Amino acid sequence: MNVRQIIYLATLFAASLLFLFGLLGLSHPRSARRGMIMAAFGMLIAVLGTLLHQRIVSYEWIIGGLVVGTIIGIPMGLWIPMTKMPERIALSHAFGGLAVALVGVAEYYNYHNELSSFNMGAIGFEVLLGTVTFTGSLIAFGKLQGILSGRPQTFRGQNLMNFILLGVALLILIFLVVQPTQQAVFYALTSIGLLLGVLLVLPIGGADMPVVICLLNSYAGLAAAATGFALNNPVLIVCGSLDGGSGFILALIMSKAMNRSFQNVIFGAFGAEVHEPKSADAGGAPIREGTPEDAAELLKIANSVIIVPGYGMAVAQAQHAACDLAAILEKNGTPVRYAIHPVAGRMPGHMNVLLAEANVPYDQLFELEAINDDFPRTDVSIVVGANDVVNPAARNTPGSPIFGMPILNVDQSKAVIVLKRSMNPGFAGIENELFVLPNTMMVFGDAKTTLTKITAAMKQE
Ligand code: NDP
Repeated sequence: MNVRQIIYLATLFAASLLFLFGLLGLSHPRSARRGMIMAAFGMLIAVLGTLLHQRIVSYEWIIGGLVVGTIIGIPMGLWIPMTKMPERIALSHAFGGLAVALVGVAEYYNYHNELSSFNMGAIGFEVLLGTVTFTGSLIAFGKLQGILSGRPQTFRGQNLMNFILLGVALLILIFLVVQPTQQAVFYALTSIGLLLGVLLVLPIGGADMPVVICLLNSYAGLAAAATGFALNNPVLIVCGSLDGGSGFILALIMSKAMNRSFQNVIFGAFGAEVHEPKSADAGGAPIREGTPEDAAELLKIANSVIIVPGYGMAVAQAQHAACDLAAILEKNGTPVRYAIHPVAGRMPGHMNVLLAEANVPYDQLFELEAINDDFPRTDVSIVVGANDVVNPAARNTPGSPIFGMPILNVDQSKAVIVLKRSMNPGFAGIENELFVLPNTMMVFGDAKTTLTKITAAMKQE
């Protein structure tokens, strides 16, 4: 083993350790930033280490790719807003899937005459998962971005057809392991992968896209691990397995928090129907509407307040305004806590990230299980752009699409202030029983503007 090889292996080992500790750091908000830095540093070391690989004979193309990637990546990271994060992640996964598939195709193209059965199996697996991830993520991006309809695109026998295609792909894979030189069959597998990605994601409603994105993330990880086996690269195996495993676990956690079975997410058509909310004039129950000043009066006499953020806080970018209001309340001697629902917003940890950006101390953030019993003892709950995650229909209305989903019991607090722009439904497209309860005051308007007005009114004696 020469010095170059020793340095190569050492960098891969160091990078694998950094990925492991980075992922461990992400398990708590306090250590998450450190975890991200470690993982990013691990990636840098892995890239530098890979550049020492014996098989690299010229660096021109690599430098070209680095320049193009940097030109696209930096503006994406800097300019894409938090509310567009699911779209950005879908696009990144598409690029990841494409890269993995292309590496597999290149390996096959160059070495198909000398591939062992094991390497052929790894390459076939890599190309199948990579292509599924590529087209599936593009469809997910299109649905989230509104380029494609968010409604599930279904037709009779669709699931059966998908199963048959998957079965054919697996049979081809087995055939290739025995007969690696059959090039036409290999490219047929690649085409089936591309088609499967489209067909698997089309029937899933836009509403379920974040869960699907986690699943595609997991496929991309597994594809990368397969690439690691094909290229004999341990860091890809470690990093791909971590990605594959964590993406799958995250998809399961999200399904559980939405009280949906995994099967229901993948084969169901949740979010297809949007029920128009009924206004009081149209025969809906009457609501109690208030002004920011009314809300401030209520808050001035409150002894305890819980802020419940939701997707609307992200849209309004109201996290700093919420924090300012909390500061005034605390100055007045009213303790403030934040209740975080696991699927509030549009991606896991969405609310935690926004509140961390506004420097809300971690000890003021409470998970659903930790705070739910405290609502009956709370004077005022302020719902900032949350809807489904506080909808009592999840507890009270069997047959509701969200029935059984764990919710934050804000309706049990003595008073509830709901900040949103209209009576429009949230993500699940259903009416919210909370808005018509007698202890609820609706304050309509953009959450950031309303919170700023409430804070200003609180400052007035
Ligand atoms: P919802 O999507 O249920 O509701 C958000 C509310 O925010 C809307 O009713 C909207 O009402 C309001 N809103 C939008 N913009 C503004 C604004 N500028 N100012 C004030 N209000 C605004 O959000 P929740 O967070 O309660 O629930 C999340 C939903 O997303 C759940 O159904 C969950 O299952 C789902 N989901 C979450 C995922 C996750 O990982 N977090 C992943 C997949 C799905 P209006 O238009 O009237 O203002």
